Amino acid sequence: MAKKFNCDKCENGRITHYMHVDNGFCYKCNGTGKLSYDPTPKGNIEIDECLEKEYEEIKAEQEMIAKAEQGNWKCANNIEPDYWGE
Ligand SMILES: [Zn+2]
Repeated sequence: MAKKFNCDKCENGRITHYMHVDNGFCYKCNGTGKLSYDPTPKGNIEIDECLEKEYEEIKAEQEMIAKAEQGNWKCANNIEPDYWGE
């Protein structure tokens, strides 16, 4: 049974809301835009934990990117790493 469902989180594997992170790559469907399970609430019961983990991963990645961007900004402004406070 290889029925595929359209991902409810993205369009064709891209999440417009997260275009600044990995070009909006959708981790829910691995960028395919398709899911092997029904993403509607009736099919959601056993993947809640999975979604929460995914959310944490996206959040951690965003923090990492924000930090990298701050580092780039400091380099661009010739601020020495010593002043980064880390
Ligand atoms: Zn998706």
